[in-house]
Amino acid sequence: MPSSSIKLNSGHAMPIVGMGLWKVPRAAAAAQVYQAIKHGYRLLDCASDYGNEKEVGQGIHQALADRLVTRDELFVTSKLWCTYHHPDHVLPALRRTLADLQLTYIDLYLVHFPIALQYVPFDERYPAGWTANGEPDGPLEYACVSYQDTWQAMERLADQGLARSIGISNTPGALVYDILSYARVRPAVLQIELHPYLHRGQLVDLAHAEGLAVTAFSSFGDTSYREINMVQGEVVPLLKHGVVEEIARKAGRTPAQVLLRWAVQRGCAVIPKSSNVGRMLENLDVLGWQIADEDMQSLAALDRNLMFNDPATYAKRAIWA
Ligand code: NAD
Repeated sequence: MPSSSIKLNSGHAMPIVGMGLWKVPRAAAAAQVYQAIKHGYRLLDCASDYGNEKEVGQGIHQALADRLVTRDELFVTSKLWCTYHHPDHVLPALRRTLADLQLTYIDLYLVHFPIALQYVPFDERYPAGWTANGEPDGPLEYACVSYQDTWQAMERLADQGLARSIGISNTPGALVYDILSYARVRPAVLQIELHPYLHRGQLVDLAHAEGLAVTAFSSFGDTSYREINMVQGEVVPLLKHGVVEEIARKAGRTPAQVLLRWAVQRGCAVIPKSSNVGRMLENLDVLGWQIADEDMQSLAALDRNLMFNDPATYAKRAIWA
């Protein structure tokens, strides 16, 4: 029986497959979370920035009330947004997330991006978004807060038991080393964009060698970014790439399963997003079978160092607006 969870350096276990919740409309979020739990999902990947934590909380609450699961069986992740990096704002940000999710603790709290932005009070705008005025092409206003100060505030959340594990996201290798140089509580998880167009062998190896679990996001590559016009130039849709389709055909699986299995077989967790029950079940079924070594290599050969969720594009958009 393949293990369905990864043991974190915090001592807690994180499911290998979870449900992503980015861009899930508020009106659909409670039902999607409920359905996901009902069909076997135990990890929910949330964030204040997704603007739907209240509705996600309603879905969780309903599932608990209906005894589909117990709180202990769920693993809920959320993320500290960039406007709350100052140590004074880290605890209030988590408290707001916990109140929205109707939870008393979070299983994993990640620093969403290694970018500190000017504080925006909750009653002014929530979620605060990237730009200072909340407009898509508005200016970015950076805040002078070091990652070390933010990380030490995250450690205090772990000390208090409000976050059972803490971690990092969208951090390149050099910054991982920097964080490890001062971390009293080491990051348990590194969550990064990872798919065959963005192989990131060295970063994954570094994280694993240092005892950090890796969670892959946007496993279907461009798919998620087409919805929001963030795919530039000619990109063959990863789910329709001939190499992926051929490996799926040989394995008797779907292209989506091949892309998820590719990450899982590299020792990573995955958090695919789907509102469709058939796809939810398909995406869960990535344990207990193998992609052949030569096929893993063919997938690795698709690497184009192509990052779709690149903060540099937000900054560029703001500068040229
Ligand atoms: P994804 O790679 O999960 O792709 C989602 C898209 O794929 C949707 O359009 C969905 O309809 C489609 N899809 C899902 N299952 C499918 C299947 N079996 N067959 C065909 N199509 C299928 O994209 P994502 O939402 O960007 O990433 C997953 C999660 O990762 C997010 O929801 C979020 O929770 C997390 N995430 C984190 C960060 C971060 O900065 N830490 C950034 C992006 C995403």
